[in-house]
Amino acid sequence: MIISQNPYTGETLKEHREFSSEDISNALEKADSQFKEWKGTSFSHRSKLMLKAAEELKKNKQEYAETITREMGKPITQSIAEVEKCAWVCEYYAERAEKQLAAEKIDTDAKESYVNYSPLGVVLAIMPWNYPFWQVFRFAAPALMAGNVGVLKHASNTMMCGEKIEQVFLRAGFPEGCFQNLLIGSKKVEEVLVDERVKAVTLTGSGGAGGAVASTAGKHIKKSVLELGGSNALVVFEDADLKEALETAVQARFQNTGQSCIAGKRLLLHKNIAGEFTSRFVEKVKALKAGDPMEEETYIGVQAREDLAKDVEKQVNESVKMGAKILTGGVRKKAFFAPTVLDKVTTEMPMFNEETFGPAIGITTFETEEEALKLINKTQFGLGVSLFTQDHERVKRLIPQIEDGAVFVNELVKSDPRLPFGGTKKSGYGRELSQFGIREFVNIQTVYIK
Ligand code: NDP
Repeated sequence: MIISQNPYTGETLKEHREFSSEDISNALEKADSQFKEWKGTSFSHRSKLMLKAAEELKKNKQEYAETITREMGKPITQSIAEVEKCAWVCEYYAERAEKQLAAEKIDTDAKESYVNYSPLGVVLAIMPWNYPFWQVFRFAAPALMAGNVGVLKHASNTMMCGEKIEQVFLRAGFPEGCFQNLLIGSKKVEEVLVDERVKAVTLTGSGGAGGAVASTAGKHIKKSVLELGGSNALVVFEDADLKEALETAVQARFQNTGQSCIAGKRLLLHKNIAGEFTSRFVEKVKALKAGDPMEEETYIGVQAREDLAKDVEKQVNESVKMGAKILTGGVRKKAFFAPTVLDKVTTEMPMFNEETFGPAIGITTFETEEEALKLINKTQFGLGVSLFTQDHERVKRLIPQIEDGAVFVNELVKSDPRLPFGGTKKSGYGRELSQFGIREFVNIQTVYIK
């Protein structure tokens, strides 16, 4: 049995019967036979359906957003924004996939030579609970537009979201088998992945899950894309517009109750502005409204599960034992962890060298640009960095030395359908979104006609 539980009220929302091996095989059969039809459909046909999916999301955003909020505790206004962003990615690929995957002529000594982008088949998506709609749609929109079909293994605590997403595609008119939600826990993933009807896999989640899935995929020579954790630095130089940097840094860390791979998790402050910035930052964090995630004014909800809040509590406590100082927060009640700011964080502490997946941030100061750069790169992760400065020359100097998949200047790191998204180091490999994302699950076929 897989149980959906409201982390704010503790109420059991639904008990799902897990798929048997026979159910899994039937679903894969349906997906595989649908692929044979779907890959032959035109871009304009797929595009029409994808636009309908966008319409369905927008029309019933309240229904979908409430499912997100009830199942994983995200404040309702943020759930609505998430559903709207899903509609955007559907529209983006509906309008651009044909161009992004058009055959490309290449001049060689052949009479004719070009590259084709053709779909691979059934792609398995293993997805997390933190953005339970967005993470799935940013995979599904390009994958389906490319002519693939998808099977979803959603996080066990957001299976109702998985069911609703399947419903979006069916209501939009996608044929059965194009996109299916598999009701399975992580123990059954291997059975799906090794099945010869499954051609590739994408996973968003922890390093442990990513490593396990990628090694199975590797053993069976299947393409994988991994989008794992991050520990983005928010770097405020002394010449930054402090007011703007403050607003952005608070949002970068605390939106989605801190549960985002691209959240700013390490606040690096130049020592000349550290005192002023810190006290204004703490004031802002104290003012964040925590409460019932179903209420519109709530900005900080609960974490998606109590064990996740306990993990953050442990990282905070360990760091305090090592010398960090709590400026606000630091307390937990069940799945709620109070927005927390720690000062005097050093590179050996969990608040710096581990991923913190909740509403807590550590402050570390620096004196020189070189020191800042060392701190930025001193992490096992590589998703993104936010630099706050007015000095364009500095930005140009730093960017080539930064190891992450993204650098945002005077802005928080965010995902946008038009821009590639993905990491380096332990943050994974491959890219999602943009023309790079849609080309992950295609056969890049070389054609040479003499
Ligand atoms: P997991 O990585 O365990 O879960 C993510 C997805 O992977 C879920 O669908 C999960 O299924 C599945 N999964 C887990 N283990 C395996 C496995 N061995 N084989 C196949 N699939 C697997 O994340 P958690 O929920 O445990 O969160 C723990 C931490 O992971 C967070 O604190 C955060 O650091 C990181 N994380 C990062 C995310 C990101 O956006 N990059 C998103 C979520 C978490 P099931 O739920 O059934 O176990």
